[in-house]
Amino acid sequence: MRQLKIQSTTGTIPVGKMLCLGKNYEKHAKEMGGEVPPDPVIFLKPSTALVGNGGTVLIPAISDDLHHEVELVVVVGSTARDVAPEQAMDHILGYAVGLDMTLRDVQSVAKQRGEPWAVAKGFDTSAPIGDIVPKERVPDPHNLMLKLTVNGQVRQHGATAAMILKIPYIISYLSRIYTLEPGDCIFTGTPEGVSRVQPGDMLVAEIEGLATLSVGVGRR
Ligand code: MG
Repeated sequence: MRQLKIQSTTGTIPVGKMLCLGKNYEKHAKEMGGEVPPDPVIFLKPSTALVGNGGTVLIPAISDDLHHEVELVVVVGSTARDVAPEQAMDHILGYAVGLDMTLRDVQSVAKQRGEPWAVAKGFDTSAPIGDIVPKERVPDPHNLMLKLTVNGQVRQHGATAAMILKIPYIISYLSRIYTLEPGDCIFTGTPEGVSRVQPGDMLVAEIEGLATLSVGVGRR
């Protein structure tokens, strides 16, 4: 079973479904040539997408344009179904830094054709996630800095304060569509600066001062 480590403990938690928000930062929505959508854009990644710290993202043969998107990941700690925003934070186990790895060429074709993003966003190894930081160590998840370097060069550096939809709303909204269960992971969207990576590149994602995740890139 695919497990995520809980930072600073010997504990692990099996990973369930991964729910992801698209275009939750205005500057990223703009760099993709679009506007902030009127309703939340949701997509899923299967459990086979998970990669842990030190793993490798493998580009499938159908793509030649893999992009990184560094994101704050919320890890669910208790079952949540139809919860109000006021109760939503009670259902969080902790936070992690994650990468919503995206086959941008495949996604662009899907967008043109009005087709789903299941391939572009959900291929094997599309979801690197670092160790879970218990929520007690994160007084305000909207006061964190996300950073991503490729081969030591900074490509993304953004504040979670710029998230459009905030975490209590996101959890409440999702819980009215999907029952959230312990181990489910919510990708909350990426700040601007997404770019292409190539086989041999080394990616380091951070929640500054709290968590680090290193992954390589290869070809499947
Ligand atoms: Mg994303």
